[in-house]
Amino acid sequence: MSKTAIVTGGSRGIGKEICLRLAKDGFNIVTCCTGDASKADATVNACKEFGVDAIAVAADVSNAEDVQKIFDTAKEKFGSYEVLVNNAGITKDNLMLRMTEEDFVKVLDVNLKSAFLTCKVATKDMMRAKYGRIINISSVVGLMGNAGQANYSASKAGLIGMTKSLAKEFGAKGVTVNAVAPGFIETEMTDALPDDVKENYMAQIPRKRLGTGADIAAAVSFLASDDADYITGQVLSVDGGMRM
Ligand code: NAD
Repeated sequence: MSKTAIVTGGSRGIGKEICLRLAKDGFNIVTCCTGDASKADATVNACKEFGVDAIAVAADVSNAEDVQKIFDTAKEKFGSYEVLVNNAGITKDNLMLRMTEEDFVKVLDVNLKSAFLTCKVATKDMMRAKYGRIINISSVVGLMGNAGQANYSASKAGLIGMTKSLAKEFGAKGVTVNAVAPGFIETEMTDALPDDVKENYMAQIPRKRLGTGADIAAAVSFLASDDADYITGQVLSVDGGMRM
């Protein structure tokens, strides 16, 4: 029987690695990104190399109509889906005194409201199917806080609260909801940070290396599997021991 995963923000970085890993695990992939869907062509083509089907949708996850389009596409193409990974996210860092209301709200919309919108659709479908796996990509800073990231860390802490609430609401319906909290992962998002900030992070990581998208994808793969059936409402830190 074919199985399908929806992964938001799969055009690059961690989302791309999650798409590839779940494709390797045998899932058809539906992903999305902002702007032109062709930005995710490399992801789609690489997923197909694993013998599954894949499609990308141009969609802004903070927009309810766009979110509906992602799910409509998944159902039209594959009939149903079993896994939702809320990965799409942005940063707009600034110290509190300089952070604008606009940048606070934008980050909350893309990182947190998006998961409300996707989960609203997905929990309905998964409840009917009596099966589902929802995995929210949070962050170590959602657990620890970080100077200059009041908006981002609030959005990621919010995702953890939502994860636990939905785990309680839908556990009896066969739907598990978990969060993965990545530490410092090498992507275009973190490439933008100054060297001294990166060195400061490295000093806090017992594993003494930066994480990779594949490290996060492996945790997602496990939580999406039947082996993780009795795990729900949890936050799995994948951070080389940065927070313990
Ligand atoms: P990235 O910037 O490399 O990729 C983000 C992806 O999300 C892209 O595909 C982009 O198109 C998509 N996206 C952004 N805004 C969107 C929107 N409004 N609608 C739809 N898609 C949108 O980021 P990344 O480093 O791969 O991070 C992926 C996730 O992991 C994010 O939620 C991020 O907060 C989280 N995370 C990253 C790190 C890290 O160190 N890189 C650490 C902890 C958590």
